[in-house]
Amino acid sequence: MTLLNETNSPTLTSWLASANAQGTDFPIQNLPFAIFRRAGSDEAFRGGVAIGDQVIDLAAVAQRSLFDGEAAAVAQAASASTLNALMAMGPSAWSALRLALSRALRDGSPQQQAMAACLVPMLDVDYALPAQIGDYTDFYTSIHHATNIGKLFRPDNPLLPNYQWIPIGYHGRASSIVVSGQDFHRPHGQLMPPGAAQPTVGPSKRLDIELELGIFIGSGNALGEPVPIAEAEQQVFGLCLLNDWSARDIQGWEYQPLGPFLAKNFATSISPWIVTLEALAPYRVAFTRPEGDPQPLPYLDSAHNRQAGAFDIRLAVELQTAMMREAGQTGHMICTTSYRHAYWTIAQMVTHHTVNGCNLQPGDLFGSGTLSGPSLDQAGALIELTQGGKQPIALPNGEQRTFLEDGDRVTLRGWCEAPGAARIGFGACTGSILPARR
Ligand code: MN
Repeated sequence: MTLLNETNSPTLTSWLASANAQGTDFPIQNLPFAIFRRAGSDEAFRGGVAIGDQVIDLAAVAQRSLFDGEAAAVAQAASASTLNALMAMGPSAWSALRLALSRALRDGSPQQQAMAACLVPMLDVDYALPAQIGDYTDFYTSIHHATNIGKLFRPDNPLLPNYQWIPIGYHGRASSIVVSGQDFHRPHGQLMPPGAAQPTVGPSKRLDIELELGIFIGSGNALGEPVPIAEAEQQVFGLCLLNDWSARDIQGWEYQPLGPFLAKNFATSISPWIVTLEALAPYRVAFTRPEGDPQPLPYLDSAHNRQAGAFDIRLAVELQTAMMREAGQTGHMICTTSYRHAYWTIAQMVTHHTVNGCNLQPGDLFGSGTLSGPSLDQAGALIELTQGGKQPIALPNGEQRTFLEDGDRVTLRGWCEAPGAARIGFGACTGSILPARR
C-alpha cells in the first residue's frame, strides 16, 4: 500500500508565487481546510483551503462550477458554515477535492484565472471553529508527559500500571473549544492551598498550557460497531494544533477520583487550519516501543501501524509576555518537540475509543494529550518545564515565569519536513490571558 500520491510530490509548484516561498506553511503540497469569512464582514462563514498567503473560497469554487464530478459535489459540501458535511463524506471524497485543487493550482493550469478569482488574502479573514464539535475526548499519549507528571505526585512510582496497555483518555467538554485568537479570562475555581484547613474560591494562580494536536474525526461509526485498527485511519479527517489550557491548582484539588473537570473546561484553543492525513503522508514514521515495554494487544496492533502509524510533526511553543509585546519583542520559544515521541498512535486511539461500541461522529475532536518529548526541554507544559513551579523559566528580557501571568500570549506552531518532501506547516494556535473577572 502506498500512501503517497501526485499531490505530495515535492517538485510541484504553483502559479501563486507566495505558495512557492521558502518556509511557507502552505505550499501546494499542504492544502489544509478551515472555516472563514472576510474580516469584519457579515458574510456567511464557509470552507476554505490555504495556499500561500491566500484562502481558496470553496463556496466560490462551487458557485462557479470550477470542478466536475465528485470534486464538484465535495466542494459544494465544503461550502457550508461548518466542515461536518465534508468530514462525513470520507477519504475518497476528501482526496478527490484535494486532487482537483492541486491540479488547478499548479503552474500552467488552464484553471489559473478562474481559481485566482476565488482567492481571499489570508490577512483579511476571520476564522470560526472548523466544525460543530459534538464530543471532545482528551487522551494522554505521551509517556514522557505521563512520567514527568507522575513524578511530581508519586516520585517512586510515576507511571501507573495501565499506561503501557491502554491509550488513557477522558471525555472533555466541547462547548468551550475556541478558535485561535480568542482570548479568555483567568478562571476562578475552588483552591486548596497547601496546609490550609479548608478550600477557598478565587482566580487560579497556576495557569498552564498543554501542547497537543487535535484530531478531527471523519465519517464516524455506528453505535455498537467498533472500528478495527485496519480501518481506523480512514475515520480521521485531519489534524490541528490544540492548547488544552489547564489550571493546575484547581486540578490538584478536584481531580480525584473522577479526573479533570473545571481545571480544563474553561477554554481549549485550536488552530483554524486542519491538515489532512493525505498531506501528512510523507512524514509518517514507524511506531516502535522501547525494548522491554509490552507490545500492544492484538486489537491495537497492525503491520501498517508498526511501519507507518506515527507522524514526525515538529512542534513549538512560544511565550510572549505583555512587557515583551509593549517593547515590540517577539515571543520566546520555551519548548520544541515532535509528535513522533507519542506512545500511542492515532489509529490506536480511534480503535481503543470504539472497542466498546462507542460511536464517533463527524466533527468529533480528540486531543492527543500533552506531547512532551524525552528530555525536559521538550516538555509541552509549564508544570513540567518548571518542575512543578520550582524552577522558573528565564526569559530573554529578564522576566521569569513559572505559570502564566495576565497578558501572557502563548502561540503553538507545528510543521513537517522530511528528505524528499516539501515542508508544510499548521499555521498558529494563539491565545492570551486576560485578568480574572471580579
Ligand atoms: Mn490535555
